[in-house]
Amino acid sequence: MPQATRKLNAFPVFMRVEGEAVAIVGGGEEALAKARLIGQSSAVLRIVSDAAEPELLAFIATNGAAIHIAAAYDAAHLEGAVMVFAASGNEALDRRVAEDARRLGIPVNAVDRPELCDFFTPALVNRAPVAIAIGTEGAGPVLAQMLRSRIDRMLSPSLGPLASLAASLRGTAERLLPKGNARRRFWSDFFGGSPARAMAAGQLSQAHDAAVDLLLSNAPASGHVALVGAGPGAKDLLTLRAHRLLMEADVIVHDALVPEAIVAMGRRDAERLPVGKRKGCHTKSQAEINALLIELGRDGKRVVRLKSGDPLVFGRAGEEMAALRDAGVAYEVVPGVTAAFAAAADFELPLTLRGVSSSMVFTTGHDLKGNSLPDWAKLAISGATVAVYMGRSVAAEVAGRLIEAGLSPDTAVAVVENASLANRRRFHGTLADLPSLEVRADLTGPVMTIIGDAVAGANFERSEPLATHRHEGAAQTAVGVER
Ligand code: SAH
Repeated sequence: MPQATRKLNAFPVFMRVEGEAVAIVGGGEEALAKARLIGQSSAVLRIVSDAAEPELLAFIATNGAAIHIAAAYDAAHLEGAVMVFAASGNEALDRRVAEDARRLGIPVNAVDRPELCDFFTPALVNRAPVAIAIGTEGAGPVLAQMLRSRIDRMLSPSLGPLASLAASLRGTAERLLPKGNARRRFWSDFFGGSPARAMAAGQLSQAHDAAVDLLLSNAPASGHVALVGAGPGAKDLLTLRAHRLLMEADVIVHDALVPEAIVAMGRRDAERLPVGKRKGCHTKSQAEINALLIELGRDGKRVVRLKSGDPLVFGRAGEEMAALRDAGVAYEVVPGVTAAFAAAADFELPLTLRGVSSSMVFTTGHDLKGNSLPDWAKLAISGATVAVYMGRSVAAEVAGRLIEAGLSPDTAVAVVENASLANRRRFHGTLADLPSLEVRADLTGPVMTIIGDAVAGANFERSEPLATHRHEGAAQTAVGVER
């Protein structure tokens, strides 16, 4: 049937239940499920059962608003209720309950017997006072639960308190702001701006103050920049917070290393600004990026500055934060799964290993070029696990200098290209094999190298040996390994 002519056979409404009685007839699992559902409201539960199971009894004992009528069912038990659930698990009894309810003019739901139901219960996303009810008219509870968890993930846990704060300010807002644009603007800034952010951080009184500021000032909403980690590449390694901010963004400023699929997860009408920063093709300088973020922030935009992995690991976030601070633009940082963690997971590689390695180094290896050995090389020699970012072009240098400094050429090495993505490739070998990395033209994705004795604890069943490519880089290998 074409979409336009489809009609709902059950229409959703929100029914007032505060302080009202809701009767549930039954003592088992079905009754408990309904009690839990209705227990999310401020209704008074009236549970009728002469054979309540222990779990239901425990629920009643801990729920202040539940009354247990421990008697055999009688129609009188339904009187005065605003809703009735026939949840006894016994068909004849449920039918009787449904008939009695109907006679008393009370809407009834009979568990698993749609033909006896006046109404259905939805799958519920509860952010009281905000509720999202999902109904499928029997297309399936599995579908409803799936939708429920998807929606649940999208909504901040602080939505409830934020909506309560909104309710408490509604009267004031109506007095102070003329109906129309100004008021709409205020609420949009309230739910998307600084009050929402303060609430998300659990700061109720700051949220209130920010809302009052917004109410009293005529100034346009101030912008905000979130430095967000997009993770190593796989869409589902994005954090829920990162996803939420992407859904609320006005502008997404992203690096080249963040896959298109993740950028696409943002709000549909958000502006998307790629700023490049891939080795060899900087489309914008760091100073230009800083200036762009400041300009967008000053324009009142909600900006997501999306960086691969974690924004604070080799992401130049330090410079961006300093620039934003100096310019007085508010910002926050959202962590992400850094490439080293994704590569370790792909290799089942313990980054710390009891009795073998208890520290970890994040490095680029680019600081090995000078004459003196950087501190981290000493850590490597004393057993730290070393994760080398951007290490492909300096692989020979890294291997050579570490061996020179005293690390055994036999030290285990794991290399992952495109960690976390479907097209990832894994290589294993020793420090002596590492220089070959530099001369391999077939590695076109980002590459993570992990060095250390803990690497020996990884799973090498799905990796190729690095050494098979050793001959290609013979010259470099010789230089690298020579003491
Ligand atoms: N902030 C990022 C790192 C940016 S530097 C993070 O926390 O992961 C870029 C380097 O990260 C690349 O040269 C590569 O060494 C590493 N990298 C990023 N994504 C990767 C991936 N999916 N697989 C392997 N290495 C990756």
